[in-house]
Amino acid sequence: MNTDSALLAKRLIDGEKLKESEYLLLLSASDAELKEQLRQAAVKQRRRIYGNEVFVRGLIEIGNHCKNDCYYCGIRKSNKNADRYRLTPDEILFCADEGYRLGFRTFVLQGGEDAAFSDALLAGLISEIKLRHPDCAVTLSLGERGEESFRALYAAGADRYLLRHETASPDHYKKLHPPALSFANRMESLRILRKIGYAVGAGFMVGSPFQTKADLAKDLFFIQEFRPDMCGIGPFIPHKDTPFADFPAGALEDTCFLLSLIRLIVPEILLPATTALGTVHPTGREQGILSGANVVMPNLSPVSVRKKYSLYDNKICTGEESAECRDCLNQRMQAIGYKIVTDRGDKRTKGANNNGNL
Ligand code: SF4
Repeated sequence: MNTDSALLAKRLIDGEKLKESEYLLLLSASDAELKEQLRQAAVKQRRRIYGNEVFVRGLIEIGNHCKNDCYYCGIRKSNKNADRYRLTPDEILFCADEGYRLGFRTFVLQGGEDAAFSDALLAGLISEIKLRHPDCAVTLSLGERGEESFRALYAAGADRYLLRHETASPDHYKKLHPPALSFANRMESLRILRKIGYAVGAGFMVGSPFQTKADLAKDLFFIQEFRPDMCGIGPFIPHKDTPFADFPAGALEDTCFLLSLIRLIVPEILLPATTALGTVHPTGREQGILSGANVVMPNLSPVSVRKKYSLYDNKICTGEESAECRDCLNQRMQAIGYKIVTDRGDKRTKGANNNGNL
């Protein structure tokens, strides 16, 4: 085992902050033994704060229109092969009602940047969901809508906002996005969301084109400094109708290692084992949980539109009814000693500190 990386790992496990250059060393020089030590420490932290509970989020993909053209995304505006749809408010409310019946207490409204989902329409929808299900949280994942819109939706009752930062490196950001999209605006949006009062989710892809270990070290350092409430990371998976069609997918092992590191950097963070992890490996989500993740996000969208919300190729769980997804995940979690709970699944701070001690 490399002594330098072993010392860094120990400092991280003890709750110390590391420098960006130290994260780079940890990413570059960790061998299998050290990674396993870090994984075990991450699981210990996760179990200390969240026990063996796994939170579920009911994902409702409200539409796949988007004005942007991110090079990695299957629903980018230039993809003429995308079969576009928008759910109606009634369809969205039906998904939420059905989800509630199945035990979901968080609904994630996810979609592209689409002006047809106006602030007024979304605010009406959010307040109706909260009226029908006051014990539930509403999470939005609708891109960079701007401060005024973020404020209007928060006032309507939205609790959380997911906005993956995608990469904390401005240079890498330019390689993943067209010039119209700005790294500075992305990061500023995250700060605005936090200022407004949302629980904020950042996140990034692992193994995305042109990504280097130095970029990932920047991501880890950003997570350490910004301390998001949630962090969605999953392996990059190419989509056949994008400029990145021929790039290889990110690796399960790398994603799991990063999940463990993020759990150690922010012990109380809400960390999903993403559908993308389950797509690159049949037990990817289980391995994500066993690396420190504590959230899964099954799909509540109508089966008729599931295949159309195709951000990447071969996405799993596009044919199953919501109840089947929930049962399947229940069984998968039970098989590895964890249990899905009926709970809003807010971030827990009680008992959480940075050094693993109560
Ligand atoms: S990643 Fe998001 S913003 Fe970019 S094209 Fe896809 S849906 Fe639109």
